[in-house]
Amino acid sequence: MIPLEEARDYVLSVATRRDPSMLAVSEVLGLVLAEQIVSDEAIPPFPNTAMDGFAVRSVDVVDAPCDLRIVGTAAAGPASGLVIDAGEAARIMTGAVIPDGADAVVMVELTSAVGDTVTVQQPVPSGNHIRLAGDDIESGDVVFEPGTVLTAGHLGVLCSLGRREVLVHPRTKVGVFSTGDELVDEDRDLRPGEIRDSNRRTLLSLVALAGADPVDLGLVRDDEEAIEAALRTGAASCDALITSGGVSMGDFDFVKEVLSRIGDMRWMQIAIKPAKPFAFGTVDGTPIFGLPGNPVSSMVSFELFARPGLRSMMGHDAPLRPTIAAVADEDLRRGPDGKTHFLRTIAEVGVDGRFHVRSAGGQGSHMLWAMARSNALAVVPDGNGVERGGNVDVLLLLD
Ligand code: AMP
Ligand code: MG
Repeated sequence: MIPLEEARDYVLSVATRRDPSMLAVSEVLGLVLAEQIVSDEAIPPFPNTAMDGFAVRSVDVVDAPCDLRIVGTAAAGPASGLVIDAGEAARIMTGAVIPDGADAVVMVELTSAVGDTVTVQQPVPSGNHIRLAGDDIESGDVVFEPGTVLTAGHLGVLCSLGRREVLVHPRTKVGVFSTGDELVDEDRDLRPGEIRDSNRRTLLSLVALAGADPVDLGLVRDDEEAIEAALRTGAASCDALITSGGVSMGDFDFVKEVLSRIGDMRWMQIAIKPAKPFAFGTVDGTPIFGLPGNPVSSMVSFELFARPGLRSMMGHDAPLRPTIAAVADEDLRRGPDGKTHFLRTIAEVGVDGRFHVRSAGGQGSHMLWAMARSNALAVVPDGNGVERGGNVDVLLLLD
């Protein structure tokens, strides 16, 4: 058995970032920026009002309350063309260009208007409620550096700056197939010995949640030729492949066999539970993640190896989920076996502000129900486990 870190380092050394490409801003949520964004426009582009109210000359209202003559209305949009002279004011709406002559805005709540006269109740300083050009971003500012993970706010800034496209590390296209003669996909009653394929839907979903682009490559029989064909066509059409099943010690675990014949692969036994068997390498240069078939194992293996690998391909500098220290709210028992155990737990923030975990239920590697209920894997090192009230590291699976 090899340590988790060794297996993961190997994955990360092979699954490296892909060349950047120009993509429409509408396509890049969650992707990693591959260029430095320098503003060539000021945001806001012109001085405008932050409030609905009246544009005034501050010198005219130093002795407020006082009355001013309303000369028109400035709305957001094309400039009103209004000019404010001594004793005058313009109605103005948030976002509107400040009329020439005015140097302050009085919020509507501090005014009362009758006919074409407005009474201003308080003096305001010059510049009051005016957002200056370049207040947020000035032309020439370095706005985002390469390596930035693009969130909703980043995309908004890119739109503000008039960017339609941006250079990013592209979304990895990930083919997923399940292997196993016992697996059924059709909507029909099960015959003796059959089970339904659950891993493919789970893995496709995990791929999507990791920010990659899932491609369903269906179910493949435990047959060397069928597996080889699926791997070759998948490797040719996708940037990475994820397979489930067929990498353990059984007589029909052909994924392992085929991969070692046609690929540059490493088949590993990792000192973890669940998800001990794992195959990883490349076929024709395409990274292949051979995950174990047990449903919980395949999910844990995805979290520990495939997700970091796919995110590394997508240019993330920190592809691993953070591990945080939590409090065990109940005994998390295990026995010594030379492995690190990943227990399915439910984590919640307690009144002390720390995460607290308790078991999510059955810990068998076939018990997907508890995995589905859990939102954190408790990392329990080799030994007898953690006692109630003790500290335990957890990998939060929050997306
Ligand atoms: P394997 O890794 O192929 O030896 O499979 C290990 C266990 O996981 C067996 O009990 C399989 O029936 C089960 N299994 C394999 N693939 C799937 C799948 N796609 N969905 C649900 N269970 C599976
Ligand atoms: Mg199998």
